[in-house]
This record gives sequence, structure tokens and C-alpha cells, in this order.
Amino acid sequence: MSDLERLKQRIPLLEYLQRHHWTGHRVGARPEFVGLCPLHEETHPSFYVNAYKNLFYCHGCGSGGDLIRFVELARHLSFRQSVAYLEEELVPTAQLLQHTAAFYQLELHRYPEGIQYLAQRGVRDPKLVEELDIGYARGGNLRPHLQALGYSLERLLQAGLIGPQGRDVFCHRVIFPCRQQDRLVNLYGRSIGSAFPHRLLPRSKGGLFAWESVRRFRNVILVEGLFDLAVLWQEGFRNTTCAIGTHLTPAQWAQLCEADDRCIYLAFDQDDNQAGQQAARTLAQRLIRAGLSARHVLLPAGHDPNSYFAAGATANDFARCLEEAPTL
Ligand SMILES: [Zn+2]
Repeated sequence: MSDLERLKQRIPLLEYLQRHHWTGHRVGARPEFVGLCPLHEETHPSFYVNAYKNLFYCHGCGSGGDLIRFVELARHLSFRQSVAYLEEELVPTAQLLQHTAAFYQLELHRYPEGIQYLAQRGVRDPKLVEELDIGYARGGNLRPHLQALGYSLERLLQAGLIGPQGRDVFCHRVIFPCRQQDRLVNLYGRSIGSAFPHRLLPRSKGGLFAWESVRRFRNVILVEGLFDLAVLWQEGFRNTTCAIGTHLTPAQWAQLCEADDRCIYLAFDQDDNQAGQQAARTLAQRLIRAGLSARHVLLPAGHDPNSYFAAGATANDFARCLEEAPTL
């Protein structure tokens, strides 16, 4: 059976229409239903659905066909877009991302360069790598893997996992899955080579990283990058969360502000152009206006928390930075 036949079998046309608020009544004893046509304006029902054949026909506007044809007409989509739309209805994107993340986790242990890169960035604890579900995209083999699981190429293109040339967009990247309450909402890929360092899929980055476990702390450390978070967790600072960048989405802002007795330690990059520090000051002022406390963690020039540890700093050194962080 072809993928298309399987898709149509898994979403029966009649069920699809009913789920989208079409009401039809049965015509005699046959598995045939008639109702008002969803594709054109009418007052007398002329839209027929044969539930056995999985086909529709409208005597008013003359359109007819299978489920994919219906979606093309009703949603003004191309054939391929309609297939992708139906697949999304059948299997939510969270599940597609889960399949992708699981594949990349296996890949991490198949090729040495991902683990080597993690070690070079100071992430060495295998338990932490597993806890964060870190993976590695070598590139080139995600597409056949996902297609074997039944995903169409169109779906993978639409999700942004595969580029127009058919290759993984995360090629040669270490992958951190981003979750929101147990649901995967995005993947972050850090280039291990010369490509642009940061990459997310073209969809929301979700809430603060690992917020479900961090929100119980009164003192919260906010960092820019997931490598900062990984080394801080490794060193025991489990009250660290990350916004992936210095810009907070409204959802991330709301999370930080949900308890007003919270103190936020801003440990952004101490980079040359001062962008991280400027962002930290602006965010601190906003937090204070919202009634929270904010402290500005000052690391040695040129460092972010990740590079600070990679350069030999200890948990005690960082704890001292926290103690000495000026109150804003
Ligand atoms: Zn019609």
C-alpha cells in the first residue's frame, strides 16, 4: 500500500468532515451521506460522501474526489501541502521532533566528533548528556530515517528539518531538544564547525529551558546559551535556566515573573561589544519594575559561564561571582 493510501485510510473522509463540523444524514441503507456543501454556498444539500469508497461528490458545484482533493479545495493548498497538512493532523509536530531528537541522540554515540565537541566545551558528564537528551546531527541520514517512519519529504521540509537540497539543516551540529512540560517544541543546534553557530527551527523557542525543574528555586540564574546551562548544571547549579539568547519571549518573561519574591542572577556573556551586558542591564531594570530582585553576575572580561569553566574555573569561583554580583 502506498503512503498516500495509508494516510487516507488512517483519516477516513467522513470522520475528517465530521471533525470539521460537517453534518450529513444517511441516504438509505448504503454507507452514503448527504449534507450542505462545505465548498460552495447552498441551501439545499447536494454534497454526497461515500464512506465506503472514501470519496465525495457535490452535485451543486461539481467538485469531487478523495480526502486530499477535499483539503486542496477547502484550504486552497497544493497537493503536496495538503498531504503535509493531513500528516500534521495525524501526527503532531511534537512527535516528529521527538523522533528526530531520538535519532540524533543515537547518532551522538555513533560518531566521535559530537562527544569530542562537548568535551571541548567542558560538558563531560555522560549522565548529564543523557538527562538533557543531547544529540548530534552528522547530516545526511535523517531524511531516510524519518521517511522510513512514514513522514513525507514535504512534511520534513515544512518542519524545517530538511533543507531544499534534502540535507539535515542541523548538519554538523550538537542538538539540544527544547521542551515545554514534556512536549518537544523546538531543537537547538550548535555548529561544531565554521557554520553560523546557533540554529533553531522556524517555530517558537518555547518557554525557559527546563523551567519545570527550575521554577521551585527562589534564586534563579539566567544564562544566554545552552552550553552555559549545561556546565552550570554539571557543577551543581541546578537553579540555572536559559532563554536561548538575551531576548525573552512573552512566555519566558511571564515564567520569570510568576513569583515576585524571586531573585534573578543574570549571567550573560561578557563579550567585547558589551551586547550581553547591555541586555542584562535592560532586563534587570525590567525585572525590578515588575517587583523582582535582579543581580548582575560579572565574569572576567571576554567570558561567558561556559568559557569561564572551560578555562579552569571551579564551582567555588562561580559561587563567589554570584555572591559578589551587584544588586541592581
Ligand atoms: Zn459544492
